[in-house]
Amino acid sequence: MANGAQNGGNHVTKKPPPEPSPLRRAKFFKANMRILITGGAGFIGSHLVDKLMENEKNEVIVVDNYFTGSKDNLRHWIGHPRFELIRHDVTEPLFVEVDRIYHLACPASPIFYKYNPVKTIKTNVIGTMNMLGLAKRVGARILLTSTSEVYGDPLEHPQMETYWGNVNPIGVRSCYDEGKRVAETLMFDYHRQHGIEIRIARIFNTYGPRMNIDDGRVLSNFIAQAIRDEDLTVQLPGTQTRSFCYVSDMVDGLMRLMEGDNTGPINIGNPGEFTMLELAETVKELINPRVKIVTMENTPDDPRQRKPDIGKAKEELGWEPKIKLRDGIRLMEEDFRKRLHFQESVSLS
Ligand code: NAD
Ligand code: UDP
Ligand code: UDP
Repeated sequence: MANGAQNGGNHVTKKPPPEPSPLRRAKFFKANMRILITGGAGFIGSHLVDKLMENEKNEVIVVDNYFTGSKDNLRHWIGHPRFELIRHDVTEPLFVEVDRIYHLACPASPIFYKYNPVKTIKTNVIGTMNMLGLAKRVGARILLTSTSEVYGDPLEHPQMETYWGNVNPIGVRSCYDEGKRVAETLMFDYHRQHGIEIRIARIFNTYGPRMNIDDGRVLSNFIAQAIRDEDLTVQLPGTQTRSFCYVSDMVDGLMRLMEGDNTGPINIGNPGEFTMLELAETVKELINPRVKIVTMENTPDDPRQRKPDIGKAKEELGWEPKIKLRDGIRLMEEDFRKRLHFQESVSLS
């Protein structure tokens, strides 16, 4: 193994973190948290908003440019006194006063991040630098949602945080993979150079309600196809594997990481591993046994296997996923049926 023996995890920084705002020390405000979520109108972000809003001490600010997210995901909070929604692109500077920053802004689906790759890099590099500049100015703690894609097409299996990865620097996925790798580097450099309090989550494939229906990701494709009586499209060879984490488990892991003591990087994902053919069979069995499974060409640089080692998350955060894939698929089906039905009734009227 491991070219990662000197991995940057859990540094003790020599420099103390920047001073938080004086409000932090005021008796009345001390207990309150002002939390910024970039990309909070997206799939994972909007579930994180829901969970953070449950705590009456939290004020939540979302910034999002709505590239892949939608106000609809947050409509139940709009107008709430502890909630604020700002249309903003993180590649531009942002001045707000907050205590915590969950930095999620970045398209996650290959179709979207490949659509404008230069913009994807700007979002990961300039966007992350801006959020780190903000964290430095206000003394906030910042969490980055990095990705299992930093391991590329991994030569170690399952992937541990110490693995440095096998990433093509010039391929069509590189804007995302390398973008996130630079974002991680920036996080550690701000931590070492400026004493910023950082947390890095390496998220593995996550699924659940509110995923974009036609975003091309495998579970959203299969579930929408099964509901619409269409063939399930398995990209070749079909033996490639992924591990799928239900979104409520993911949000729980992110919040534990933010409030814990470990900088990360920490893998957050579900170690249950499936081939894409097995996944198609499961969706077919659960949702629509009449549909056919067909194979089609794959896209370049598709990782052949992916499964997190979550030993560190268990030990450091006391976290492990609870929702089984079959239960999660049912919950996602329910949400997709409602939204597809609504879409149909709107187009008929
Ligand atoms: P998503 O596309 O649903 O959400 C991303 C959000 O960021 C969207 O609301 C989008 O409009 C917003 N956004 C994009 N570029 C922006 C910009 N320049 N300025 C402001 N807002 C911007 O994706 P998601 O699945 O919710 O992913 C959230 C985060 O988790 C991303 O950082 C992603 O890389 C990471 N992640 C997700 C997965 C997964 O399986 N869903 C896996 C690994 C990592
Ligand atoms: N920044 C921001 N909000 C802030 C503070 C900084 O968006 O509250 C941006 C700032 O515009 C800069 C980036 O964050 O482009 C990095 O800030 P830093 O202070 O590290 O760098 P500098 O401004 O010294 O280049
Ligand atoms: N995939 C598939 N059929 C689809 C969409 C994707 O077989 O309709 C495969 C794809 O080739 C990849 C896996 O599913 O091997 C996961 O793809 P996704 O885009 O969901 O996520 P990522 O590649 O980022 O893990």
